[in-house]
Amino acid sequence: MHQTRPDGTLIRSTCDFCGKEWDPHGADLMIEGHQGALICTSCLSVAYSHVAILGEGGDLAGAKCTLCLEERAQPQWQSPANDAGKVCLRCIKQAATALEKDPESGWKRPRA
Ligand SMILES: [Zn+2]
Ligand SMILES: [Zn+2]
Repeated sequence: MHQTRPDGTLIRSTCDFCGKEWDPHGADLMIEGHQGALICTSCLSVAYSHVAILGEGGDLAGAKCTLCLEERAQPQWQSPANDAGKVCLRCIKQAATALEKDPESGWKRPRA
């Protein structure tokens, strides 16, 4: 999420899944969902491995996704650091596709 001052200027941005503060000079990028929800590329890689490759998260289908705010009947990844942080398979795939199209991201989806 973005933390802003009353005048709207940005204080800092943190991953909604691991709580890490985004470092503009660091290796991780942040993908933004609806209403300023953020997932860092480290969390995205873990989520992709568990849900898209290993097929886990089916028991969380129907939960509210932190990024798209919809209750999709799709497998979801739940952050081990934040029970409220869930991301659905659709958002995981969309974020992965967006990152791979950006040559500057340097992100590669995990392989099985
Ligand atoms: Zn994270
Ligand atoms: Zn979603």
